[in-house]
Amino acid sequence: MIVFNLGCDAEHRFEGWFNSADDFDAQSSRGLLSCPVCGSGKVQKLLSAPRLNLLSSGAPVPESDATPAGSGATRQVAVIDPRQRALAELISRVIAETEDVGTGFAEEARRIHYREAPERAIRGVASESEAVALAEEGIEVARLPFGVIDKSQLN
Ligand SMILES: [Zn+2]
Repeated sequence: MIVFNLGCDAEHRFEGWFNSADDFDAQSSRGLLSCPVCGSGKVQKLLSAPRLNLLSSGAPVPESDATPAGSGATRQVAVIDPRQRALAELISRVIAETEDVGTGFAEEARRIHYREAPERAIRGVASESEAVALAEEGIEVARLPFGVIDKSQLN
């Protein structure tokens, strides 16, 4: 079976079910089609609006992203990898909850450890030797799976 969007000369719109496209042509040429609303025999096939059914394992595409009908523009679909989203959230959280001490990281971590500075979460950069030295002093340092990012670099 095949479904066509049909319309009569009075602009009533309805669907017609046919065995095939040829079946529509055959019935149309023999005058067998009529509008179910007004009975008009002038029934035409309408161009159906293209519709894309997108399957994705991720989040549904918001309706607001839809391109207005008839613009002819290609619809852009962003697919967000759940792992990328999780990483993005982690980055946001780390940035929101830590203080950026930049290259002074090792020194500041040491001061916090020895209670010379207020205890708080910090982020920054440290050389490999600084990181090793911190570890030897029993100062725990978590390595981030991404570079230090300024808030200004987000968005
Ligand atoms: Zn009609």
